[in-house]
Amino acid sequence: MKNVNELLERQKRFFYSEKTKTLDFRLQQLDKLKDMIANNEAKIMEALKKDLNKSEFEAFTTEIGFLYMELKEVRKKLRSWMEPEKVTNPITHKGAKSRIYKDPYGVALVIAPWNYPFQLALAPVIGAIAAGNCVILKPSELTPNVSRLLAELVAQYFNEEYFTVVEGAVKETQELLSSRVDYIFFTGSVRVGKIVMEKASKYLTPHTLELGGKSPTIVDHDANLEIAAKRIAWAKFTNAGQTCIAPDYLFVHEKVKEQFIDLLKKSTENLYGNALKNPDYGRIVSDGHYERLKSFLLHSKVLFGGNSEDKELIIEPTFLGDIGWDDPVMQEEIFGPLLPVLTFTSIETVIEQVRNHEKPLALYYFSESKEKQEKILTQLTFGGGCINDALFHIANPYLPFGGVGQSGTGAYHGKASFDTFTHQKSVVHQTTKFDFPFRYPGNKQGMKLIKKLMRP
Ligand code: NAD
Repeated sequence: MKNVNELLERQKRFFYSEKTKTLDFRLQQLDKLKDMIANNEAKIMEALKKDLNKSEFEAFTTEIGFLYMELKEVRKKLRSWMEPEKVTNPITHKGAKSRIYKDPYGVALVIAPWNYPFQLALAPVIGAIAAGNCVILKPSELTPNVSRLLAELVAQYFNEEYFTVVEGAVKETQELLSSRVDYIFFTGSVRVGKIVMEKASKYLTPHTLELGGKSPTIVDHDANLEIAAKRIAWAKFTNAGQTCIAPDYLFVHEKVKEQFIDLLKKSTENLYGNALKNPDYGRIVSDGHYERLKSFLLHSKVLFGGNSEDKELIIEPTFLGDIGWDDPVMQEEIFGPLLPVLTFTSIETVIEQVRNHEKPLALYYFSESKEKQEKILTQLTFGGGCINDALFHIANPYLPFGGVGQSGTGAYHGKASFDTFTHQKSVVHQTTKFDFPFRYPGNKQGMKLIKKLMRP
């Protein structure tokens, strides 16, 4: 492994050379990143196929294309985002000018997970570069082909003292986390998120935590069931359910349960056919995750699917019935192609049950009732989500993406990525043309005036 302290020292020196801060430099680096991806699409797809059996369609839409969209948006708006922001002055500041300067933090450490191993590594890097930082990227060791490719490509396109990849697992990540970087951007599990926060507390390093959790998907009796079934089947089984914002479990209204499950089966079959034989259906990332998912099958009633292929680490799209909150599958984020089905008869009980658990990263509600949509939106706290769709909120660069509470801290994408990697430095430019005496103590008239100005 690279010597972390030495690397950090070199990156800090480069940062203080002031080169990373100009608009031209940032745009050049963003263009380089775009070229790096565009010139190597085939290699990226190959690595994603090897690590996760990602189809070309999934690899392009959810990894490569996603990054192009982010790059396009950032490139177009960067100049205006970087401008110091003028703000108004209260009357006490007569004669002064107040500005918010957009200050890069310095060296940003980006730690990525394995489920969208290319996109989730580079999407934060776009924000870090746009904001004028140096970057150390640590990809996931569970997708070794993508990790190696990232290390090779970044070394080929960027100077190490500006942007570099450090490969490794727990030991290497902990070493990086123990160093005095200026910002930590972590995407991964709640468990490791807590370790990251603990490490960050040593130097009070600012950080973003993009975590996970159980995202509820609620289908009410007045929903457009056919569309809901298509969208949920797609959202749940894309990447074999290994998506942080995938529907984790389904809450379906008792009245439409049978009908909806039938529609969901049809939609799933239409999308994947015999998934075990479908070359485009994702596989589970590791033996450990595969065994964990299979153990849920032992304890649940299978409504649909349930077959698996040990050698290839494939589990077909599966729905589980007769599920209660005490079942093992409801104790942790599933992160695989298993969909537990719970039922309800009143939306109030759903709200109560969701409130009794950690704040979800995403929530999806399917209903045609504006009133109930509003109720869900105002009465439940969650990172983000959709009404009558699933996953789609993540693909809009104008929507900040992130969790709340145990599902995460902070947000990114589009302008939010720039803001995340930027310190807002508030500065008053004071005039020296005059100096109001009333601001100083011991001035009787001044006190009267100050009271008048400051009182409500
Ligand atoms: P993970 O937390 O196991 O690993 C994430 C990163 O942390 C990896 O780079 C890994 O090397 C490192 N790491 C692992 N153990 C560590 C330790 N003990 N100390 C220091 N570093 C350690 O997560 P994962 O399994 O790669 O990803 C799955 C999780 O990530 C799920 O919970 C999912 O919901 C979440 N996720 C969230 C988002 C989001 O945007 N919010 C996106 C994708 C995944």
